[in-house]
Amino acid sequence: MKDLKFKEPILVTRPLLPPIEKYEKRLKEIWDNNWITNYGPLEREFQEKLKGFLNVKNIEFFVNGHASLEVAIKALDLKGEVITTPFTFASTSQAIINNGLTPVYADVDEEYYNIDPDNIEDLITDKTSAIMPVHVFGNPCDIDKIEKIAKRNDLKVIYDAAHAFNVRIDGNPIGSYGDISMFSFHATKVFNTIEGGALMYDDDDLTYKLRSIKNFGITPDNEEVQFLGVNAKMNEFEAAMGLINLEYVENAIAKRKIIYEKYLECLSDLEDQGKVKVLRPKSNVDYNYAYFTIKLNTFDEKDHLFNKLPEYNVYAKRYFYPPCNEFPAYDFEKNTPIAKSISDTILSLPLYLDLTVEDVEKICKIIEIELK
Ligand SMILES: *Cc1c(COP(=O)(O)O)cnc(C)c1O
Repeated sequence: MKDLKFKEPILVTRPLLPPIEKYEKRLKEIWDNNWITNYGPLEREFQEKLKGFLNVKNIEFFVNGHASLEVAIKALDLKGEVITTPFTFASTSQAIINNGLTPVYADVDEEYYNIDPDNIEDLITDKTSAIMPVHVFGNPCDIDKIEKIAKRNDLKVIYDAAHAFNVRIDGNPIGSYGDISMFSFHATKVFNTIEGGALMYDDDDLTYKLRSIKNFGITPDNEEVQFLGVNAKMNEFEAAMGLINLEYVENAIAKRKIIYEKYLECLSDLEDQGKVKVLRPKSNVDYNYAYFTIKLNTFDEKDHLFNKLPEYNVYAKRYFYPPCNEFPAYDFEKNTPIAKSISDTILSLPLYLDLTVEDVEKICKIIEIELK
């Protein structure tokens, strides 16, 4: 055990940080421009570049991913109930609740942990206004089925694509589905702007509303408060980080893939023995290797591993435990047994750029020992 203990803590993630000189150069530009927030020149440049990079029709930036989700809900004038998944980060549900809406939880599928479309239709009532699925761990939901259900029942769809930066389905950008999709550019995500978020959408008419709502409802042309808004604007320091990180993100994803595949290789024996199950990308998807998750067979095995890893200086994360419908903060239906069983047994392992394949070999060795 001694020689398996890491000298420095191995956390679940590390932020993508570009060479500091590059950031300093952009900081100089901000000082020269004398413009630090409110849709400045760097945000505009970032917007054009990212639109081209992702190949999406429209993209608007926000101060963070969660604020983007809240603004998306306001812009679509959602009312009543929103059908969503309990297996996600706290943000998804809270964006719904903070807008005075009620989340209604559909259970997830066992293979990819995403909302199961077969559970959605039963939950639709005359109060339902939208579906808010999450592309959990960057694997796309069953978009075909979800869009059909939405069309049949005249519902809006907002995808929480916080984990899915640069993911493509059959070559199409993940941001091209639904009414709106949201990216988070938080420090822990594949691509960061320190904090930051974006909404992608096809309907050009939404731009005016989104730009107003994120700035206290003040319209960009005649400066009237035509909407009830919030303050959710991106600033130039975030945009600068985005512009620079965009130069590095493809390389970052390529490196993540190498680490992901090393984990797969090193855990294959444990998988063959049925002791762990690794989440794999769907076959028609260009994946971003945002997370490496393993599912154990029981809560106790997961708990044991989660508590033992720190003794080796390795820190896994319980993404996502418990499911959102079990948070003590609010009391909603808990009728989602699959989400609960996944939540009880899943762990995310460390995955970041400067994690070496030797580190991965060691982490897997530790897991093997602890699951004996
Ligand atoms: C990170 C995350 C968010 C929130 O994004 P922030 O940029 O941190 O506000 C929302 N949903 C999911 C699924 C996330 O993982």
